[in-house]
Amino acid sequence: MRQPITDLIHHPYAPPASFAAPQPGIHKASTVFFADVAAMRARDWKTKAGYTYGLHGTPTTFTLEERLATLEGGTECLLAPSGLAALALVAFALLKTGDEVLLPDNAYGPNKALTTGELANFGITHRMYDAMDPADLAAKLSDRTRLVWVEAPGSVTMECPDLPALVERCRARGIVTALDNTWGAGLAFAPFDFNGSGQGVDISVQALTKYPSGGGDVLMGSVVTRDERLHRALKLTHLRMGFGVGANDVETLLRSLPSIALRYDAHDRSARMLARWLAGREEIAQVLHPALEESPGHAHWRTLCGGGAGPDAGRAAGLFSVVFDERYGAAQIDRFCDSLKLFRLGYSWGGPVSLVVPYDIGLMRDATVARWPYKGALVRFSTGLEATNDLRDDLDQALAAL
Ligand SMILES: *Cc1c(COP(=O)(O)O)cnc(C)c1O
Repeated sequence: MRQPITDLIHHPYAPPASFAAPQPGIHKASTVFFADVAAMRARDWKTKAGYTYGLHGTPTTFTLEERLATLEGGTECLLAPSGLAALALVAFALLKTGDEVLLPDNAYGPNKALTTGELANFGITHRMYDAMDPADLAAKLSDRTRLVWVEAPGSVTMECPDLPALVERCRARGIVTALDNTWGAGLAFAPFDFNGSGQGVDISVQALTKYPSGGGDVLMGSVVTRDERLHRALKLTHLRMGFGVGANDVETLLRSLPSIALRYDAHDRSARMLARWLAGREEIAQVLHPALEESPGHAHWRTLCGGGAGPDAGRAAGLFSVVFDERYGAAQIDRFCDSLKLFRLGYSWGGPVSLVVPYDIGLMRDATVARWPYKGALVRFSTGLEATNDLRDDLDQALAAL
């Protein structure tokens, strides 16, 4: 007689397969069973044709991958444990000793740190280019250039580049382009099809940590392509590096993804109103938001993100920076940030709570490329989902504390 504990573990009951509900079922596994030895030997972890091991994909991770590929207009997607891990995955898959990678001067900071740290240790060199000058990029491409990162707009300083022009310079030389598409989130523009031209980047990376999650509670990244050969290279590196993601986190993403467009547009509306209000304040020297006319690269944003006539046309993330008048010293800027009550001090963005971060641009810009033209301190705001008037009142009282 078998003991009940054995029957408990090898239970014969299987629920009927007909269950249907708004959210997909969540599958958690490291181990995946095979029907027989032949099936085990015939396992194929290179495609989504079957399952081999939790690290190589489950129904849950495949479902999120397919939805993200659809959102961005790609065909293939891989998940990574964070946005930064997704950026690293691209670098590790495509670069080897002796190769060179190019980054925009205003790239996401940790991507620069990975490049000057681990990649440099592996004998992979890099150059920074001026994102606002496609000729500067073209001049820096060489026979050793294997990968060019692009970002629209630039992190923190928010200049929108002529993205199609940058990509075209690389395509002309057969060099792979990878976009950090966290700001656009697959909503502001189509990364693989700029303005319906059929032209786009080769790889689009997102920090799902931001708008796709929308909660400030999950770290994850994605790498989307529509090139089978590129995807295969990325997939092999993904397997060998062991970039697994947890099913509970994927479940959170599957739950929040359907509302991403509504949330994105709400963040956008609120941010534009606050950015315009701040632009009218005498304490502020410059507002950096690509949808504002006076912001660097505004015309490129308008072309890329469908910004037709009217102040609310086109799409933009709820993110902007301001440069304070240079008469305010560091201590006053710190006091301003400390005085904010609804805007909390914290990194990242895309969640319900508005955030603020003071940045030192002198430490962020590569001195060999474009000179930063402003003297005042820079503060970046991420607009959450609070009522816009309450956020404006919060900014108002903190400006008074200057
Ligand atoms: C946040 C962010 C990342 C990295 O995402 P994590 O999940 O925090 O690692 C990458 N690129 C951009 C532009 C980001 O804002």
